[in-house]
Amino acid sequence: MLVATPIGNLGDLSPRALSAISAADAVLCEDSRVTGGLLARQGVAATMIPLHDHNEATQAPRLVQRMKSGECFVLVSDAGTPLMSDPGYRLVRAAIEAGVTVSAVPGPNAAVMALSLSGLPPHPFLFLGFLPAKSGPRGAELGRLRGIEKAGLSATLVFYEAPHRLAETLAAMAEALGADRPAAVARELTKRFEEVRRGTLGALAAHYATAEARGEICLVVGPAAEEAAGPEELDDRLRAALAAGLS
Ligand code: SAM
Repeated sequence: MLVATPIGNLGDLSPRALSAISAADAVLCEDSRVTGGLLARQGVAATMIPLHDHNEATQAPRLVQRMKSGECFVLVSDAGTPLMSDPGYRLVRAAIEAGVTVSAVPGPNAAVMALSLSGLPPHPFLFLGFLPAKSGPRGAELGRLRGIEKAGLSATLVFYEAPHRLAETLAAMAEALGADRPAAVARELTKRFEEVRRGTLGALAAHYATAEARGEICLVVGPAAEEAAGPEELDDRLRAALAAGLS
């Protein structure tokens, strides 16, 4: 069972999450110190098995075998919903392929909370997780994204970002996606210093060029405005429509 845990505020650990954890034979977790600390505060003792990016590929078949023999595991990540920029996908895939029933206790997720607080269109949205940390690959990824937008994607974009990279990422986004794109920086969600700063990519980049960004950050970028089609594109669209039998 996939069990969501808090992204900051411990009050967000649901009763159902706690009872699933208590009932499990073992808790699969990224970092046993983080999960152990969370469970100790709730007075829950559990057997923990580390599952992270470095051992998931080798652990998944063994764990699935144990599930097939009747063991019940709970998967948690350090914070929020497992698999959302966190380990677990390979295990879930392997369990499904082996015919093991997978269920979930839903709960906190920074991307969805940031999206709902952003004031930007909530759907369609595209969750992109972390961009590459280095400026070259990050610029290339943003360029690729802009290409997809030009081909017709119009969706709100949601990213995770580290505080020390926020200023340069916002500047790169303003350059690649457009300085006038509406956006929001959601910081420290569910915590004492929760803040959502809304503006254009250009204005947010200018703000964080001098202001220090602290804590955990989620970035939301509004959809690209529909581009006015040039004559060649209109020609192509017309040809495609005629080929499809439309008039
Ligand atoms: N699985 C998690 C979830 O459901 O949101 C996210 C895990 S991902 C490895 C961690 C990243 O999520 C952080 O670096 C940050 O970008 C974002 N994040 C996590 N907690 C946050 C919070 N309280 N406020 C804003 N962003 C947060």
